Amino acid sequence: MREELVALAKLAEMDDSARDIDAELKQIPAQLEELRASVQMLESMLAQERDQLAEAEALKAQQSAELKERNEGLQRARKKVAQSANLREANAAEREVEANRRSIKEREDELKRIGDTIEAKTASLAEREKDFEEAKGVLQTQEESSKARVAELDEKRGVLLIGREELVEKVPKNVVKRYERLRTGLPNAVIIISDGTCTACRMALPPQLHIELQRANELHQCPHCRRIIIHKSVVED
Ligand SMILES: [Zn+2]
Repeated sequence: MREELVALAKLAEMDDSARDIDAELKQIPAQLEELRASVQMLESMLAQERDQLAEAEALKAQQSAELKERNEGLQRARKKVAQSANLREANAAEREVEANRRSIKEREDELKRIGDTIEAKTASLAEREKDFEEAKGVLQTQEESSKARVAELDEKRGVLLIGREELVEKVPKNVVKRYERLRTGLPNAVIIISDGTCTACRMALPPQLHIELQRANELHQCPHCRRIIIHKSVVED
């Protein structure tokens, strides 16, 4: 088992040397994803603002048409007042004039409110458009620089891991499997120890285990943190 453990220690050392690169390679797409999500959010907010503005414009058109109608109604009612043949007709026509006037006043107030809304929405829409364009620009720049960085990291990683396959072949498959599983959750999945203490979790190892580690007849894991432990003397021989 000694040779296999030596190969495993080398493999772990190699993987550790690429650990920062692996972390960055994982981080880059996550950051890009976050940025894309915020661009998308700005885009949907922009669409919402546009919808609200269109709604306000439609309402304005509707109110303007009604105002025009009411103005025409007022003209007609005034004519009726002038042409009324008796008091009853004159009173009825006057009431029509009043109703149209009230309605005109209401439409005008409403149009004023809509006008204010449109003005505010137009201003905030311009802000949103600016934010959106800016965020898109940042995303694009980030995508380009990330691409370059990933290529750079891939190359570095490739160099660091030269000979990894050969090492993997020297380690029993079940051990490689256990090692791979351990290192997904633990930094330094393989620990080289020189005394009776696990250097990762700082717990004392049972004396019997310490002796067995120096014999290097089988694979051992720290009973506390589960890391694979190899004695320094095994690697150094
Ligand atoms: Zn430990």
